[in-house]
Amino acid sequence: MRAIGIDVGGTKVLGVVVDDGEVVAEHRVPTPTTGHALIASLVLVVRELRGVVADAAAVGIGLPGLVDRHGILRYAPNLPGVVELPVAREVAGALGLPVAVDNDATCALRAEHAMGAARAARDVVLVTLGTGIGAGLQMDGVVVRGANGFAGEAGHMVVEVDGIPCPCGRRGCWERYASGSGLGRRGREEGEAGRAPALVALAGGDPLAVRGEHVTVAARQGDEVALALVDEMADWTAVGLVNLLQLLDPGMFVVAGGLAEAADVLLGPVSAAYRRRAVSAEHRPPVDIVMAELGERAGAIGAAIFAATGAESAS
Ligand SMILES: [Zn+2]
Repeated sequence: MRAIGIDVGGTKVLGVVVDDGEVVAEHRVPTPTTGHALIASLVLVVRELRGVVADAAAVGIGLPGLVDRHGILRYAPNLPGVVELPVAREVAGALGLPVAVDNDATCALRAEHAMGAARAARDVVLVTLGTGIGAGLQMDGVVVRGANGFAGEAGHMVVEVDGIPCPCGRRGCWERYASGSGLGRRGREEGEAGRAPALVALAGGDPLAVRGEHVTVAARQGDEVALALVDEMADWTAVGLVNLLQLLDPGMFVVAGGLAEAADVLLGPVSAAYRRRAVSAEHRPPVDIVMAELGERAGAIGAAIFAATGAESAS
């Protein structure tokens, strides 16, 4: 069955058409800043894709935040101004098509389990490291969504009491330290202090323009400041992964999201930090930390799979 899947990220809205496990069309637009504009963008992306593949009739949407079982985006810390947005109802009403909505990381998990890195796995934690951090959970072969559909908001687990302020309104959340945003923040701090000339150069000469990807690019080029920041970020990533290990006992971790594009510089440090921090590691079978195979498309592909196969059984 042909289905449309859309992933709403912190910076882009990415839509795909999936046909028998293959992506046959793709369209992307920047993520807008208001709920009204977000609905308009979602409708636009579907119309563009149906202009290419006219018979794609089921639509799935993955959203970054608290998505309830009625298709309402209740709260999205990294989409300021978007609250209590009835995404499923409004997009379905505009298009006249069925629309299924779920959390973006849960969608990525569905895709990686169906056709990516977690194909053979029964107990999986997928972590998206991007603008923020989300998690998709599968335990005993079943996707875990929680009482309201809100399970897996791992990015807002507090790892530093009274730490850095978070867009969620609290302090010390994991994603302030371990996401692409955390990496960019540390890069800007080092740049402003005059300690990171390579990062500032990559950002066009402005220390305040340094972002996470500048740090991973510089690390790949062997810049020592960037490599140290990656190590620091990897250690924070391991702190959260070990907390999830303690709670859930997964058989594998899959790392997805924007930072998965920098797997070559991140995976080694994250795995090393994880081994240092894992509790009672000598008494546990090793838990693989692997990169998502579907890259930045995982969430969109998973949303299409949800629309085509999973929406009814999961609702
Ligand atoms: Zn938070």
